[in-house]
Amino acid sequence: MHLNKGVRPLNIERCHTTFKCGTFSSIVGRPLLIIIGAGAAGFFSAIHNKRNNPDSTVIILEKTPNILSKVKISGGGRCNVTHACFEPKELCRFYPRGSKELLGPFYSFQCKDTMDWFESRGVPLKIEKDNRVFPYSDSSQSIIDCLVKEAEALGVQLCTSCSVEKIEKDKLGFRLSLENGDTLTCDKLILATGSSREGHRFAKSLGHKIVEPIPSLFTFKISDPSLHKRSGLSVENVEVWLGKNKKQSQSGPLLVTHWGFSGPAIIKLSAWQARTLFNTKYQEDLHIDWLPVYDKNDLLQLFIQERTDNGKKQVCKRSPHPEIAGRLWDYLCQKAGVGDVATWQSLNERQVETLISELKAGHFDMAGKSPFKDEFVTCGGVSLKEVNFKTMESKVCANLHLVGELLNIDGVTGGFNFQNAWTTGYLSGGFQ
Ligand SMILES: Cc1cc2nc3c(=O)[nH]c(=O)nc-3n(C[C@H](O)[C@H](O)[C@H](O)COP(=O)(O)OP(=O)(O)OC[C@H]3O[C@@H](n4cnc5c(N)ncnc54)[C@H](O)[C@@H]3O)c2cc1C
Repeated sequence: MHLNKGVRPLNIERCHTTFKCGTFSSIVGRPLLIIIGAGAAGFFSAIHNKRNNPDSTVIILEKTPNILSKVKISGGGRCNVTHACFEPKELCRFYPRGSKELLGPFYSFQCKDTMDWFESRGVPLKIEKDNRVFPYSDSSQSIIDCLVKEAEALGVQLCTSCSVEKIEKDKLGFRLSLENGDTLTCDKLILATGSSREGHRFAKSLGHKIVEPIPSLFTFKISDPSLHKRSGLSVENVEVWLGKNKKQSQSGPLLVTHWGFSGPAIIKLSAWQARTLFNTKYQEDLHIDWLPVYDKNDLLQLFIQERTDNGKKQVCKRSPHPEIAGRLWDYLCQKAGVGDVATWQSLNERQVETLISELKAGHFDMAGKSPFKDEFVTCGGVSLKEVNFKTMESKVCANLHLVGELLNIDGVTGGFNFQNAWTTGYLSGGFQ
C-alpha cells in the first residue's frame, strides 16, 4: 500500500475510494483512526498505532503541503533527534513543563529506545560531546526518510493540504469538518497539531483546559550599544539568574550578540523562567557570574597578583583571567567605571570591590526578548492533569489522544522536545 502523499480529499466519495475514510469504519467494520498533524508526534503515533493494530485504518491529515517540516529544519538541518541521557529521572530534569508527568512514559520509551528505533531501521546516529544526538549523515532528511518508509511499509495513509477546521463528538465517534467542505468520521482521534492555535481550539472544544501558550527558548535583548559592539564574544561557562532568584540560576556557555545575550545558559534560563519573564513583559534584572568557579576571595587573590606582576599596566588592557577575553574585560571595566587610564597599582579598594562584583554578579536591564521567529518551542498547551500518561488518552473525552508539543510540555534545547514527541506518540499506539 502506498503513502498517498499530496492527494487532496476533494469529496467524501473520493475519500472512500482513495483513503477509505469518511464513513469507512461503518462500511467494512474496521476501526478507523485519524491523526491530525504530520509532525514528529503525528508520524510516530501513526506508526505505533498501525503496528499495534494492523487491522485498523490509520490516516494522517496535514494542513500544509509538507510533512515533518519542523524535523526538516531542526538542529540547523541536522535534526537533534534526542539526547544521550538514559536515566528517566535524570531525563525529566530537562523539562521545565512536564517533568513529573513524563517520568512514567520514559520508563516505557526513552532516549535509548529512540536511538535503537532509528538505528535498527538503518539510520546510524552519533552522540556529540554535549550529549546531543544527531543522524550520522548530519542531515534531517535521514530521519524523515526513515519515518516515511516505516509508515509506508505499515500502510499508514497520508493526506496533505488537508486542513481540519472543526471537530465534533457524538456517540458514534468524531466528526471532522475539513476546510474544503468535506466531513470525515472516525472512532479514535489523535491530536498532534504541535503548538498551533487550531490544535488548542480543537482540544478546548472537546472539553480540555489550555494553559496559556507563551514563548520558551529565546534570547535576551539588552539595550547597551557598548555591549553590542562586543558581539561574537563567548564565555565557556557563566551562571545567570533573574532578580534575586539565584537559587534558580542556569549555567553554561554565553554568547554576546548584536542586541544582547544568547547561548545555552540564557536559553535554558528563558525556558525555566518563561512565565516570570512573560508576566514582567521581558523587563527583568539579569545577573551574570562570569567566573562561577571562583569565589570573591579567589578573585581578590588574582587582583593582588596582577598588582604585583603588572602594577604599571592599564587595568582595562589586561584581563585577570584567560576565560575573560580582553574585549569583554575592557567592557566590564568601562561598565564598572574604571577608566582607561587606571593601572593595577592605582586601583583603590572601592574600585576593586566594584570590579569583583561586576565579575560575580554583573547586573543588566533586560529590555525584551528575541522576535518570534527565533522561538523553538511553546510553553503552555493542553493541561496535563486531563491526560492519562499511560496511553495519552484524554481523561475528559474518550477515544481522544493528545501527543507532542500540543501538550503543556516543553524541554530545554538538546533533543528533548523531539523526545517528548517520540515518547507520547509511541504511548498513543497502546504500548506501555
Ligand atoms: C527552528 C526549530 C528547530 C528545532 N530544532 C529542534 C531540535 O533540533 N531538537 C528538538 O528536540 N526539538 C527541536 N525543535 C522543537 C521541535 O521541532 C518540536 O517540539 C516538535 O517538532 C513538535 O512536534 P509535534 O509533532 O508535536 O508538532 P509539529 O512538528 O509542529 O507538527 C504539527 C503539525 O500539525 C499540523 N496542523 C496544525 N493544525 C492543523 C490542522 N488544523 N489540520 C491539519 N494539520 C494541522 C501542522 O501543520 C504541523 O505539520 C525545533 C523547533 C524549531 C521551530
